[in-house]
Amino acid sequence: MNCLNCGAQIVNNLKVKEIFLFKEIIPDYICNLCRSQLAPLTGRNNCPRCFKTDVNGICYDCQVWEQKHNTINCHEALFEYNQFIHSYFKLYKRYGDVLLAKLFYRDIKKWSLQNKFDVVTYIPASKNHLQARGFDPVYELYSDIFDLKRLLNKIDADKPQAQKNRLERLQTPQTFSILPEINNFQKNQKILIVDDIYTTGRTLMHAHDIFFEAGFKNICTFSLSR
Ligand SMILES: [Zn+2]
Ligand SMILES: [Zn+2]
Repeated sequence: MNCLNCGAQIVNNLKVKEIFLFKEIIPDYICNLCRSQLAPLTGRNNCPRCFKTDVNGICYDCQVWEQKHNTINCHEALFEYNQFIHSYFKLYKRYGDVLLAKLFYRDIKKWSLQNKFDVVTYIPASKNHLQARGFDPVYELYSDIFDLKRLLNKIDADKPQAQKNRLERLQTPQTFSILPEINNFQKNQKILIVDDIYTTGRTLMHAHDIFFEAGFKNICTFSLSR
C-alpha cells in the first residue's frame, strides 16, 4: 500500500499480537514519515470539556460557557491544527482530492473502537458547498468508520467559516436545523457529532444545542483536528 499523502510505500509490519489474537487488522494509509509530522492531542493535560491542551482542569473558556449555558461540552480531537494538517485540508477540501478522506482512517478507526455511541451524526456541508465541491468532506472522512446518520441541515451562511475572523465566527447565529429523522431515536441514547476541524468550537456547540433542545442529554462531539 502507498501513502495517500506522499506516495511512499507503507510497510505494514504486523505485530505478533495482531496475528495471534486474530485482532482486527486496521489498514493504514499514511506512511511513518508523514505520520511523524502529526501532533497527537491525547494525554496532554486536556480540558475535559473542549480538549484544549496544557490546562489545569476545566479551561477558562469552558467555565465561562457553562455559566451562560446549561449545556456541558464533551469534545475530543486527534491532532493539533499544525502545518501538516493545514496542508492536508487545503488539498482535501479546497482542491477537492476526495481520496485523501482515508488518510487518517487508522487513527479515527482506533478511536471509534474505544468510544461507543448509540447514534453518530455529522456536520453536513451546506448545499452551495456540496454543489461546488461535489462531495461532503466531513461525511467522506467518517462514513467508512461510523454508521453516519444525517440528522442536521446546514443553512447557507453569508460567507464560509474559513473566511471569517474569530469575532465573526463567535457571533455566527445558529446555522443548523434538525431533520425529522431525529424521531427515529430515543432521547436517552448517546449521540456523537463529528466534524473535521474544531476552531472556536462554535459550529459543534450550535449542533450540540440543537440536539440538547430536542431533548437529548447525552451528547459528545469529535473532530479530527483542533
Ligand atoms: Zn507519506
Ligand atoms: Zn475547555
